[in-house]
Amino acid sequence: MILNEAEIQAGVARLAGEIRLRYARRPLTVVAVLTGSVVLLADLIRLLEVPLRVGLIQARSYRNTATAPGPLEIHAELLPALSGHDVLLVDDIFDTGRTLESLLPQIRRLNPKSLHSAVLLRKQERQQVSVEPDHVAFMIPDEFVVGYGLDYNDAYRNLPYIAALEPHEMDGDSN
Ligand code: 5GP
Ligand code: MG
Repeated sequence: MILNEAEIQAGVARLAGEIRLRYARRPLTVVAVLTGSVVLLADLIRLLEVPLRVGLIQARSYRNTATAPGPLEIHAELLPALSGHDVLLVDDIFDTGRTLESLLPQIRRLNPKSLHSAVLLRKQERQQVSVEPDHVAFMIPDEFVVGYGLDYNDAYRNLPYIAALEPHEMDGDSN
């Protein structure tokens, strides 16, 4: 196991504390990256005592049983109006950084008043881009992890903890 339930909750509380400091009591729009960040979203927003809206954006780089990223596919149809709003983009994990690197400019084009990012996890020594997440709860080793929203082939999202997937639990490179 990489992080147990109590450790995750402490990390989410830490993130929420940083976010409360950044925005004081100003209204906030939290945009969560589907699907991996929905568990984090649910826990995080309940610790933010500000007028808050939730928006969703889908970004998919892993197909089915892949554990290496492919081309990024983005769907932004579920976003509320962002123009003039303080926006916090929330994702489960910052790995190569390509997802944030693609999403931030797309959201910036919608004219938010401000735009920052928060992730639960960040993998060591994997970054391929210059963009940095503004808030990170945990650094983790370079292993494929599941649980607390993170999936492998759509399974394991409901685990309350975060664990590395062992090689024998993967189907090999089917696509
Ligand atoms: P990046 O674009 O930063 O390389 O990767 C970010 C996205 O890739 C995350 O939103 C997540 O969906 C996926 N991802 C990266 N590493 C992992 C991992 O170890 N496990 C799982 N389940 N997804 C990952
Ligand atoms: Mg994701």
